Amino acid sequence: MGIKMKKVIENFLEYVRIDTQSSEESLETPSTQKQHNLAEVLVRQLTDMGAEEITYDRKHCYVYASVPASKGCEDVPVIGFIAHMDTAPAVTGEGVKPRIVENYDGKDILLNQEKQIIMRVEDFPELSSYKGKRLIVTDGTTLLGADDKAGVAEIMAMAEELLLHPEISHGKVRIGFTPDEEVGAGADHFDVKLFGADYAYTVDGGKLGELEYENFNAAGAKVIIHGRSVHPGDAKDKMRNAILMAQEFQSMLPVSENPMYTCEYEGFFHLDQLNGTVEEAKAEYIIRDHDRIKFEKKKELFLQTGAFLNSRYGEGTFEIEMKDSYYNMKEIIEGHMHLVDYAKEAMEELEIVPVVVPIRGGTDGARLSFMGLPCPNLCTGGQNFHGRFEYACADEMERIVDLLIKIVEKYQVFN
Ligand SMILES: [Zn+2]
Repeated sequence: MGIKMKKVIENFLEYVRIDTQSSEESLETPSTQKQHNLAEVLVRQLTDMGAEEITYDRKHCYVYASVPASKGCEDVPVIGFIAHMDTAPAVTGEGVKPRIVENYDGKDILLNQEKQIIMRVEDFPELSSYKGKRLIVTDGTTLLGADDKAGVAEIMAMAEELLLHPEISHGKVRIGFTPDEEVGAGADHFDVKLFGADYAYTVDGGKLGELEYENFNAAGAKVIIHGRSVHPGDAKDKMRNAILMAQEFQSMLPVSENPMYTCEYEGFFHLDQLNGTVEEAKAEYIIRDHDRIKFEKKKELFLQTGAFLNSRYGEGTFEIEMKDSYYNMKEIIEGHMHLVDYAKEAMEELEIVPVVVPIRGGTDGARLSFMGLPCPNLCTGGQNFHGRFEYACADEMERIVDLLIKIVEKYQVFN
């Protein structure tokens, strides 16, 4: 077993013990100061391994570093790898006690003897595909943080391996670690110019082989409905119940275009929150579609629905505020398909089966792509993100380190 093999797991076990949970409540970046605790460890390790151009943005908690190009490879594209340091607000990341299940037997895993917390194959059927592998699991009381500390550990192991082995020929590699991906702010203060990569990959996906370069186009919309409250006893032809008008609005949207009924490339309107009284109601929606034309049509239908109801109830009854959140990175990646092709080729050379799936959500890479850094997403070897049943496959993590190195090697013949 090579150094990188031991290193990636060793690092991972260290990183997940550091609580870096981000918070939706905060408007600052980083949303929680404790994310610096991991950033500091990474800066120290990068320094120790001899990485160059290390920048620690202490204000916003971003870490950047370089592995310099091999002799003769100074002119090939600079490739970046990016992972996020925070973990999801949904489940606690405090007191994570990772445990390695050696030679997994493919059966239910008892995570916590005392509390009788069991991860069952019945609930997570993909578990059986890991028979004979090493799995890293939680004690059932916290998340694991493989999302995205598996990505962080893999990038760190790749960097160390490249620095230790000058015989591996490659162009300059840039590394970026961000805060607050889980609260949608990971790209907010990412310095694309300072990063200086021509292309990059986020390492923030799931099972070995996953490769993603399509995500939703996304918008958020708030509908404010102005009603008129009148004593119910005297309400005939006078009252306008804002709650009921909100229902009417919802009933005019296509019933089947709802997250409950959609998958793969199907978009939706999602009513996320509804609050109200007779006098005023507020409905919060998100609108999603991979296809830009369908996305624009969905937004149009949404606005037309408001306009129609205004023509019925009077101008200004329905106020709609709508804002685009992010776009499908495919628009950008399509102009740089080598990012997908090289990743696929690298996988195939390592006998990893590429699985290209559309993301039903967004990634920091999507935002970075539109900020000028084309950035598809690679697997990490983690599963069941954002929950107490999160786990990572150690064997897959090791192979992903090889995959990152292989991708870097491919770019030395880029033209
Ligand atoms: Zn993630």
